Amino acid sequence: MHRYWGIILALTIAVSCKDDNGQAKEFAQQVQQVKELPKVNEQYGFNLDEFTVHLDTVRNGDSFGELMQKNRVAYPKVAAISERYRDTFDVRKIRVGKPYVILKSKDTVGQAQVFIYHNDPINYTVVDMRDSAHAYRSKRKVKYIQREVSGVIETSLSEAILDQGIDYNVTHNLANVYAWTIDFSRLQKKDKFKVIYKEKYINDTIYAGAEPVEAAYFEHNGKPIYAFAYENDSLKNIVDYFDQDANNLRRTFLRMPVEFGRLSSRYNLNRRIKYYGYKVRPHKGTDYAAPIGTPIMATADGTVIESTRRGGNGKYVKIRHNGTYATQYLHMKAQKVKKGQFVRQGDVIGWVGMTGNTGGPHVCYRFWKHGKQVDPLKEELPQAEPLNESLKPDYFTYITPIKEQLDCIIYPKVLLEDEDDLITLNQ
Ligand SMILES: [Zn+2]
Repeated sequence: MHRYWGIILALTIAVSCKDDNGQAKEFAQQVQQVKELPKVNEQYGFNLDEFTVHLDTVRNGDSFGELMQKNRVAYPKVAAISERYRDTFDVRKIRVGKPYVILKSKDTVGQAQVFIYHNDPINYTVVDMRDSAHAYRSKRKVKYIQREVSGVIETSLSEAILDQGIDYNVTHNLANVYAWTIDFSRLQKKDKFKVIYKEKYINDTIYAGAEPVEAAYFEHNGKPIYAFAYENDSLKNIVDYFDQDANNLRRTFLRMPVEFGRLSSRYNLNRRIKYYGYKVRPHKGTDYAAPIGTPIMATADGTVIESTRRGGNGKYVKIRHNGTYATQYLHMKAQKVKKGQFVRQGDVIGWVGMTGNTGGPHVCYRFWKHGKQVDPLKEELPQAEPLNESLKPDYFTYITPIKEQLDCIIYPKVLLEDEDDLITLNQ
């Protein structure tokens, strides 16, 4: 889906502009520790050395009762547990595919002593059948480690991201941060980025996902844009991304109505077309090519004022956003909204098609300002929620060290596709 955004990502660890700053070193050590933790036998609050450990996942047809009977727990005991601890551990609710652990006695009988069921990657339920049986819920320890990643846009191999061993969500999160300010259909070779985020680990060793972007830097066409996560309004608990000058990166309009479409024809009042004998045929829309069926999104909140089919426009939707702006989306395969309906920014309003005059599947995006069609790529689009003036001093204090940290991240050595030479893209 994101094939137009080719990226080579690489990890940069232990990078600091200042030698006297031990932070980076400490971070590197932390990562190292996570990777090299000695095998601990203390897990789930039991010393695993004392048992024969059986790891498995729930299979089709498995039941708690059967699993226990196979492991030599008498039926009355199983029944008693099922009855008495229904609120803690509902045996009917064990799900196929969930991992479990059975701790068995080390003697020749191999009787199940403890059953541990993983409700999810963090929460688990323990059924302790030694002596008087009891059941309880517990959690694994969760740890967050800050990570820095940087990259240089080189190829269209999005697989490269995964090959680098970096969570795909990092790419996705980063694209969301800059969705309003950077047109991802027009990324340039050598565009660069840096990102700071946290990784979640369970029991220090098990990777459990990437947290949202804390701060980022994107250099597009040589123009740097910083992004810092910041709570604009502490009462509402809303986190937005602001740049180095405290401008909200979110705009009232998305840059484009399809995620990762290819800009195939710009707004051009002097367009000449061969078919029409090179006569001027102005193109007042901005075309994004995308496969038939690609969702088309409302670029801003508004009310649908037209959802119909007419002439060369084919099936289209027009949205009125306020007294100034309206947008229109042409050549749809089908509309998903009706006239009079209120839509939110990002809502799917239809799908890319080829209705009306069109040579190939695309959406022709028309941007109206004061009743006239203008070029949305040249419009300075309004900020969604400017940062509250009273918060600005705090904001600049907050971002100063983070900006320094971003500036200190160096770009990875990149292996170019065509050449076998390693090149460094720093400076
Ligand atoms: Zn068009």
